Amino acid sequence: MRDDETEHLYLDLNTYLRRRFGQKVWKVPVDAGFTCPNRDGTKGLNGCIYCNNESFSGASAGEITGQVKKRIEALKRKNINAYIVYFQSYSNTYGSLDEIKTKLESALIDDGIVSIHIGTRPDTVDDEKLDYLAELNKRYEVVVEYGLQSSNPETLRIINRGHTADDFADAVRKTSERGIKSCAHIILGLPNDTREDMMETTRFAAACGVHSVKFHHLHIVNDTELENIYKQGKIKVMDVREYADILAECIALLPDETVIARLMGDAAGDTLIAPKWEISKNGFIDLLKSVMREKGLRQGVLFRK
Ligand code: SF4
Repeated sequence: MRDDETEHLYLDLNTYLRRRFGQKVWKVPVDAGFTCPNRDGTKGLNGCIYCNNESFSGASAGEITGQVKKRIEALKRKNINAYIVYFQSYSNTYGSLDEIKTKLESALIDDGIVSIHIGTRPDTVDDEKLDYLAELNKRYEVVVEYGLQSSNPETLRIINRGHTADDFADAVRKTSERGIKSCAHIILGLPNDTREDMMETTRFAAACGVHSVKFHHLHIVNDTELENIYKQGKIKVMDVREYADILAECIALLPDETVIARLMGDAAGDTLIAPKWEISKNGFIDLLKSVMREKGLRQGVLFRK
């Protein structure tokens, strides 16, 4: 009875998608080859301190179509017929409107595509781009995923985000004004953030009116500034029980209708330095639910308007 129980404790993405589209909907991740202003010198060169310095792919429109086609063909063979095209890597609204249009539309190649999720930074949208997304939103459910990470200004400075919490609030407001949904990415366990800061970040995202939240635990991956700081012993990472405990509190701070679109971060095994939790995704869901039950928490119980 996993789904029923999960639904009662928090609104997970699969439950939302089944309600919204009446069937199972699968994500098709796309690397569209956008870059990032925090890497190309516009905002900074070194990026966020936790970001792995991979090279950008510079994918062409043809390559984007190829990526989507291949994935959808594989899903059709498994009888999965509804898809979210997920522009995942880097800042997918960082470019000219023409480039964004060409890249997004080169992915929209199948009638089964019902939704488009666009990962980006809040400082890379403007009225023109959002007006275009509002047009797309008439045909697809568009969700713009904005990195917030923390609402504490000192934390944002330390992690070298290169934007403010106000930038996030402005972007979400302009997005909502056009009827487009927003998702907040939040990292729990950042350097400088206390438990109260993590809860305040969650309250802040809720007050901005986001449709969904993706929670990530802080992980240290190689070739990052954070790796150096970690190896000097200047920061600690949470153990899995500590993370489940703070995550339970944060979920309880969100309104009932906010979709919990992600519960934990994901790093490729060969890049991950810490934490190395010996737990599967389902194992973590079970742990989170047991913590929520122990603490008498479920989504919404700590939410205040
Ligand atoms: S985490 Fe995102 S915003 Fe930060 S440097 Fe990397 S790509 Fe840019």
